[in-house]
Amino acid sequence: MRDVIVLGSTGSIGRQTLSVCRNLGYRVTAIAAGSNVELMEQQIREFRPLIAAVADESKAADLKMRVDDTGTKVLSGENGICEAAVCRYGDIVLSAIVGIAGLRPTAEAIKSKKDIALANKETLVTAGHIIMPMAKEYGVKILPVDSEHSAVFQSLTGNKNNKIKSIILTASGGPFFGYGKEQLRNVTVSQALKHPSWSMGAKITIDSATMMNKGLEIIEAAHLFDVDVDDIQVVIHRESILHSAVEYEDNSVIGQMGVPDMRTAIQYAFTYPKRCASEVKRLNFAELGKMTFYAPDDSVFPAMSLCREAFKRGGNAPAVLNGANEAAVGLFLNGKIGFTDITKAVKDTLYNINFKSADTIEAVLEADKEARSYVSDLG
Ligand code: NDP
Repeated sequence: MRDVIVLGSTGSIGRQTLSVCRNLGYRVTAIAAGSNVELMEQQIREFRPLIAAVADESKAADLKMRVDDTGTKVLSGENGICEAAVCRYGDIVLSAIVGIAGLRPTAEAIKSKKDIALANKETLVTAGHIIMPMAKEYGVKILPVDSEHSAVFQSLTGNKNNKIKSIILTASGGPFFGYGKEQLRNVTVSQALKHPSWSMGAKITIDSATMMNKGLEIIEAAHLFDVDVDDIQVVIHRESILHSAVEYEDNSVIGQMGVPDMRTAIQYAFTYPKRCASEVKRLNFAELGKMTFYAPDDSVFPAMSLCREAFKRGGNAPAVLNGANEAAVGLFLNGKIGFTDITKAVKDTLYNINFKSADTIEAVLEADKEARSYVSDLG
């Protein structure tokens, strides 16, 4: 039995997390989301959390009225989300708010000594150099939920004293795998939102199409597993069955496989080091038939190289890159810029904002703000 706090409960990961909690019979003690109070009401009625926090202050009164009869305390704004994150009756926090908005609540949860099941990769991308030592200081576990990182985590189990040669992150390649530069220029928002194997929120789906998602995952993996970014390889694997792998000193490659369903990674973060029966479909190799692998084309999808560069620069660079990307994806989704302008905007921002150190959460958030303001001028 676990008491779970779900940040981003109305999103793709949040909803799947609640499904895992339902299946395992876990208690959900607090939920938090952006503005979808209709869904929050349903979640409150089913799970009866002690706290429900909604970021949009104007929606909080509505939610309060809707759930007046339930006994759930409704909070609002960023402070309310942080309060939900540290709810006294919660031993693990599933961090799945999208974007850098997840950073402060995740940091607060760590400080209140709760283990973190981390889906919100932007937390480690922008502030991994602060968050990882913080987790160590407070004695909490960061359990990866991103499917690739969960796969690496699982492939490392039992190999503590064995030397790693590389981490192999698999990537589906997104909807535009095999496209040339010219073809990419005119792709539409609805084409970019059609991911071949995963059903996810809009921001990460666009990140998958630009391959920025894989770049962010390289940074996330470097922090989580303390490896050099140059020792993290990426391979395109269209079927999304091998979720990622570790290459050891003896050239053995140990990976984790399964059907593409995020509930596997979510559940493992909750039950680690144990495994439990799950609702996820079984993998049938004979039905699958084949698995294919290709090298990524950095000349068409330069986002991964930008991410490696930002990580190597350190300081404010990863937060600048991430903030620029979040803002540019927003502009693309609103029809203000084209698809290839996203990565171009990130590159321009990274090269034009002065390098600074960013040793505190506040400095990271400042770098994020600066990058967003730079990008908004491009829209
Ligand atoms: P969604 O867009 O589906 O959901 C985002 C969630 O965050 C929603 O609950 C949303 O609330 C909430 N939210 C948005 N802004 C705020 C805010 N300012 N304060 C509080 N809550 C907010 O995203 P996903 O579930 O797809 O992704 C969530 C995170 O998990 C991302 O960081 C992503 O990279 C990561 N991830 C996702 C995977 C997936 O399969 N979806 C796989 C691996 C990682 P509301 O609905 O009310 O707007």
